[in-house]
Amino acid sequence: MPPSQPYAIAVDLGGTNLRVAAINADFEKLEARSQATQVSEGAAAAVDKLCRCIEEIIARLGPPLGIGIAFPGQVERESGRIRIAANLPGWAGFELRSTLAARLPYPIRLEHDGTAAAIGEFWRGAGVGSDSMAMLTLGTGVGSAMIINRRIWRGKDGGAPELGHVGVDYNGRNCGCGGRGCLESYVSAPGIAVLARRHFGETPVTARRLAELALAGHRGALAVWDEMAAILAAGLAGWINLLDLPLYVIGGGVSRSWPVFEPRLRRELEQRSFRYRRGQTRVVRSRLEEAGLTGAAALIVSPALEDFPAPVSTARE
Ligand SMILES: [Zn+2]
Repeated sequence: MPPSQPYAIAVDLGGTNLRVAAINADFEKLEARSQATQVSEGAAAAVDKLCRCIEEIIARLGPPLGIGIAFPGQVERESGRIRIAANLPGWAGFELRSTLAARLPYPIRLEHDGTAAAIGEFWRGAGVGSDSMAMLTLGTGVGSAMIINRRIWRGKDGGAPELGHVGVDYNGRNCGCGGRGCLESYVSAPGIAVLARRHFGETPVTARRLAELALAGHRGALAVWDEMAAILAAGLAGWINLLDLPLYVIGGGVSRSWPVFEPRLRRELEQRSFRYRRGQTRVVRSRLEEAGLTGAAALIVSPALEDFPAPVSTARE
């Protein structure tokens, strides 16, 4: 039976799970599906699985307004080709939009998942009522996005900002980006697991397990989150001093441990950032369970946020 309202197909194409939902203009979920992303199957097989999932929904609900996709990597927005996908090996160079468009003749919009999460929070979550915000998504990596006066900051190459690759230790751990001491190396889920070694030895402890232990009062786990909070504050204080935005949203799987690390985070921000001390800067946890999926729907059902700056020539005179 066709739906009573128009709807968007929202896709969150994660390195672990592929989630698809039909979402209407009031952000009500009409249908949802989730399945494992088999990374080893490669891009073509995963996209075939995705298309079948979408076709099933369309067969039940009728044609959608369009398809919004949150992708874990950089997408060339003009061509719809994947530029970089660190968590999906083999996807770089894949023509994602044209492959989808060959089977699904609807408007298709692609967005980096960190940006999609920020768009979701902007329209439906912690960002409602604010025209400017930055968001950090702490998960397998650290995603980030900046919305300034309702425009998305993308930098001249379209990949900005990378707040996770701001250095917090000039002599710190080597990072996959080629830098050293990047925030991501300490406050992503794998980074936190490395911080845990000092307290747990070589026995691997995941960030999720550390959260459970900390909530149960385990001293070693609390010490790990305390250190993580101080490092996160060191990075965040720098951006608050630099950007002076009114709102910073912390999301992603790691933010489930927010109650454990928030007190130390705030103490450190008070100490490290003169702007934060003035008391008009909000640092909050994300509000949405599925910010990326909500943002993917918003790409279709909400007014588009403009890019800022507009693409510029990088040629030097
Ligand atoms: Zn880095």
